[in-house]
Amino acid sequence: MDSVDVPMTLTTNQQSSPKFPLKICYHEIYTNGIHPDARFPRDRYVKLLQQLTTHSQTGMFDFVEPKQASKSDLLIAHDSKYVNDFLTQNLTEKEIRRIGLTPWTQDIIPRTLFLMGGAITALRHVTEYGGIAGNMAGGTHHAHYDFGSGYCIFNDLAVCALLAVEKYDFERVAILDFDVHQGDGTATILQNIENALTISVHCQGNFPFRKSISDHDISIPNGAEDDDYLAAIEQAILLASEFDPDIILYQAGVDGLTTDSLGKLNITRNGMQERNQMVFDYVTEHSIPTVVFMGGGYSEPISHTIDAFTDLFVAAAITNEKMLSKLS
Ligand SMILES: [Zn+2]
Repeated sequence: MDSVDVPMTLTTNQQSSPKFPLKICYHEIYTNGIHPDARFPRDRYVKLLQQLTTHSQTGMFDFVEPKQASKSDLLIAHDSKYVNDFLTQNLTEKEIRRIGLTPWTQDIIPRTLFLMGGAITALRHVTEYGGIAGNMAGGTHHAHYDFGSGYCIFNDLAVCALLAVEKYDFERVAILDFDVHQGDGTATILQNIENALTISVHCQGNFPFRKSISDHDISIPNGAEDDDYLAAIEQAILLASEFDPDIILYQAGVDGLTTDSLGKLNITRNGMQERNQMVFDYVTEHSIPTVVFMGGGYSEPISHTIDAFTDLFVAAAITNEKMLSKLS
């Protein structure tokens, strides 16, 4: 007995490699499609990829290159003139300025379509397998029906919510938007959709200064810290659970961090981790398929944003493994 050769390394690998790596959509155009002179910190995508790739637990992530979203995907949530004007480079200077990310390159069109495609690919994955999938970009909640704003051209949350209902037969989609900025575009696009519940936790004194009306808006004062923030998150999750969603779209922006240059809140890295865990515990308990949208993050230095997003995707991977192991 004791002389049997146990393949120790194999055993160890089997124990440490997750059976269900987290699907994360990523395309290098997420970074490269933005002009290097743009004020937007475009390197956050490629830096996050590097940090996730070198993360100690190998096999935790499965990076997938998405396909471009189709025009019909966009039209489910957007005005056809606006979609056409963008795709044919006919937006006005004013419309472009309202979006930002300027100066635009030719790649702004494929970048936008790949970014939207990443969200749709992640959605399709959870509709098929359950658990969690993510897009390493997006959460473009400031895009409205017929105009873009605040770095957002088309609204991936609204497109995915409507696809979930109309194409994948979900009955109740809850959007948990915990970015520091209100999900104004998502709220207006989905305001008459009974199958979609929009919940936004955001900083009162931050962009957009004219707020839309979500199904539930929980605004917290400038300078709020972890305790107040997490109490708001708890309330948001309670409201979601009353709706009893069969799919969740989670906008997990980390621009509420103290170090964020646009945030105006004082949330610690631990506070952000706790926030994510509250969401992930909830979806695990009820086995709710969940799509993670990255959202905002503009810390100076950007490493704080990258760390917080690393925490997010690591926690999502651990949760996904737990959820799918339970199902299998
Ligand atoms: Zn934001």
